[in-house]
Amino acid sequence: AKEAHSRERMHVNIGTIGHVDHGKTTLTAAITKYLSEKGGAKFYSYDQIDKAPEEKARGITINATSVGYETDHRHFSHVDCPGHEDYIKNMIIGTSSMDAAILVVAATDGTMPQTREHLLLAKQIGVQNLVVYINKADAADEEMIELVEMEIREVLDKYGFNGDETPIVIGSALCALEDKEPKIGSESIEKLVEALDNVPCPDRDLSSPPVFPIDTVHSIAGRGTVITGCLKQGTLKKGDALEISGFGKSMKTTVTSMEMFHKILDRVEAGDQAGLLIKNLKREDLRRGMVAVKSGTFKPTRGIVATIFMLSKKEVTGRAVPLVSGKDVSILFKTWSVNTRCPADDESEDGAAKMVMPGEQGSMKMVLRVPMMIMKGDRFTIRMGKSTVGTGMVTDVYD
Ligand code: GDP
Ligand code: MG
Repeated sequence: AKEAHSRERMHVNIGTIGHVDHGKTTLTAAITKYLSEKGGAKFYSYDQIDKAPEEKARGITINATSVGYETDHRHFSHVDCPGHEDYIKNMIIGTSSMDAAILVVAATDGTMPQTREHLLLAKQIGVQNLVVYINKADAADEEMIELVEMEIREVLDKYGFNGDETPIVIGSALCALEDKEPKIGSESIEKLVEALDNVPCPDRDLSSPPVFPIDTVHSIAGRGTVITGCLKQGTLKKGDALEISGFGKSMKTTVTSMEMFHKILDRVEAGDQAGLLIKNLKREDLRRGMVAVKSGTFKPTRGIVATIFMLSKKEVTGRAVPLVSGKDVSILFKTWSVNTRCPADDESEDGAAKMVMPGEQGSMKMVLRVPMMIMKGDRFTIRMGKSTVGTGMVTDVYD
C-alpha cells in the first residue's frame, strides 16, 4: 500500500528559469543532492533531470521534468524546463503553476536576452516572487559578480519585480554537485533553500468550485487513466463528478483516487500538483489543455475579450508587429494553444480596438477556433511562427 501524503508542510510549486547554459539543470540536481543528504529528497543526477523522457514515467508521475523535495517547512515540486528547441513554449507550460521561480544567471555572462524574456513571461503568467541564484561564481571574479548583481536588481525592477527585496544567492551549482569549494558550493545551496523556505506564496483559494487544468494524460495498466495537473482553485475528493472539456469536446467522469508524488491524497487542495485516476475515459479521449471542473459549474467558450499588450522591438526578442482585426494568430495559454481570429471591423463591438500597435496596449475581441475552458483573469501569449509578439489577459468571455 502507498503512504498517505502529509499536510504538515505547505506545498509550493517552483522551478528554474533563465538563459540557456546558465546552469538551471545543474542547480536543480545540486538542490536534490543537498536535500537528499538531509533526508528531504531523492537525488536526481543531471542526466535524469535533463533527459527524462515522458515514457520513463512510471505510475503517477507529475511531469517528465519535475522533481519533488522537502525542507523542514515546505514540500516543493520543482520544474526544470528542458533546453528544447521550442523553449519558450516549454517555459510557459513549466511556469504555469509556479508560485515562485528561481532565476539562474551565470556570473560569467550576466543577464542575457532569455533572462529578460523569461522575466517578462514569468511576470505575465502571474509569478510574483523570485529568488535569484548567481551561478558559476567559481569562474568569475568578485568585481564581475558585484556588477552582475547590480545589473540583475535593475532588470528585476524593469520587469515589475522588487529589485531591492528579491533575495540573491551567489554560488556555484557545479561545485555543489561535485562536492568542491563548500563556500560557494554546498553553502550556497543551503542559503538558496533557506530563501525558498521564506519566499512569499499566494493564498490558496479553497472555497471556489474546483478547476483542474490537465498537464499530462497517462494510461496505467491494470488501473485506468490518470490525468495530472495543478488544481487552480477549490478542492477535490474521491467520488466527485467531473466534466472535462476543451478542443470542442466535453465528457463526464468520476474521480476514483488521487495521488501526489506517489503518495495517496484524501483530498486535493488548490495548489497541489496531483494525479487523478478517473473512470470511463481513455487516454485517447483526453489531452493537455483540457480542464476538469465539477459538473455544471463552468462551460467552455470560443469568444473572449482581452487586454492586449504588443511587444515593441526594444522588448526582449519579440518581433514588433501590430495585432489587427481580421488577422489569425496563435494564442498560447498556460498549457495549450489554438488558432484565434480577431473579428473583422464590422463584427467588433464598440470600445474594442481594431488594432493594437507594437509597444501599445488595447482591448480586443478574439474568437477561438474551438471552445476552450477559459476564465476571466487567464493570461496568454500571442505568437506568430516561433516568435512571441504580445501578451494578453482575459477580461470577459462571451458565447
Ligand atoms: P541550463 O541550460 O541552464 O540547464 O544549464 P546546464 O545546467 O545544462 O549547464 C550548462 C553548462 O554550464 C554545463 O556545461 C555545466 O556543467 C556548466 N555549469 C553549470 N554550473 C556551473 C558552475 O557553477 N560553474 C561552472 N564553471 N560551470 C557550470
Ligand atoms: Mg537545462
